[in-house]
Amino acid sequence: MSLLPRFSVSAVVCLILLAACHRDQEHSAELFVFGTIVEVKLWGASDEQANRAFAELQQMFQGMHQNWHAWEPGRLVEINNAFADGRPVEADRGIVEMIRRSQLIEQKSDGRFNPAIGALIRLWGFHTSDYPIIGPPPDSAEIDEILIHNPSSRDIRIDGLQLRSENPFVQLDFGGIAKGYAVDLAIRHLQDLGITNAIVNAGGDLRAMGRHGERPWRVAVRKPGGGILGAVEVRGDEALFTSGNYERFRQDELKRYPHILDPRSGWPVEDVASVTVITTEGIEADAAATALVVAGLAGWPAVARALDLNKVLVVDESGKVYLTPEMEQRLQFSGDVEREIVEVGATRF
Ligand code: ADP
Ligand code: MG
Repeated sequence: MSLLPRFSVSAVVCLILLAACHRDQEHSAELFVFGTIVEVKLWGASDEQANRAFAELQQMFQGMHQNWHAWEPGRLVEINNAFADGRPVEADRGIVEMIRRSQLIEQKSDGRFNPAIGALIRLWGFHTSDYPIIGPPPDSAEIDEILIHNPSSRDIRIDGLQLRSENPFVQLDFGGIAKGYAVDLAIRHLQDLGITNAIVNAGGDLRAMGRHGERPWRVAVRKPGGGILGAVEVRGDEALFTSGNYERFRQDELKRYPHILDPRSGWPVEDVASVTVITTEGIEADAAATALVVAGLAGWPAVARALDLNKVLVVDESGKVYLTPEMEQRLQFSGDVEREIVEVGATRF
């Protein structure tokens, strides 16, 4: 995909619009990373701070795209090639951090979140930006051939920036966590520039800090199949992520095969349409939302507890909503929705 044209057009448009945006103390820009438009809004920043912030974030996002992409040539592809050959390889700090965090989340979620299943994701044809994919699922034998080797992020040994996999079937795919980490790094960079009120929003997956002047930042929670389920007022520094099983999928004449896989079976997960998680960090919210989609309707409360999450919302295939009391307190539904409150007993967030 070509990165630059859309990127620079939106940046130029925004730079032209900055003066107008400034009228009510808001600056905004649309940037681009991992095939998604990222809207960045700042409140109360100076023109100078905003211009610098947008230019630097744009550069950071471009670096992430090049280094962390699962199938476009770049550092992550080199790392995966080295793992397959059993060679040690040098990573960047971001990749090391994502591996460390993934190892913990993989362990706590009992393998439901596992970014080492890149070979399975590729086998299903999900290393593409063009959805839907038309065609039958892969052969069970081919799926089993990968599963039998049990690829896990915990097979990776980290020594400084140097990585080595003890398992040649480990292929990293950060599709379930990189967006979360990207918004964390963006927020951290804005803080370093002295900006205290901002929101970084990648199509409804976001992190915010501070306020929008007199009021809190207010964000929408996406609904499976399009539309909005409700709104949340962000409190201080918080991330909100939704993992959906409805936008990206493979399809044959029989059914749909969504892009989130259960690493233990090698097959797409089915009974959950989307999961929304609120927590303090994007990296955690993003990975956790993916893990909870895999956990499914029966398993999500236990996995939420294991991950110590208490603001969770799950939508099933029929549109029914299950949510924790802590999430219910925060969400203003936009319409009448069938819903059930579920206690998960987590204490941390
Ligand atoms: P969304 O596309 O809605 O942001 P996710 O955050 O759940 O969804 O990310 C889905 C992506 O994560 C997939 O496209 C794939 O790259 C990767 N992935 C799929 N299944 C898993 C899994 N079980 N654990 C970790 N990553 C996964
Ligand atoms: Mg995710």
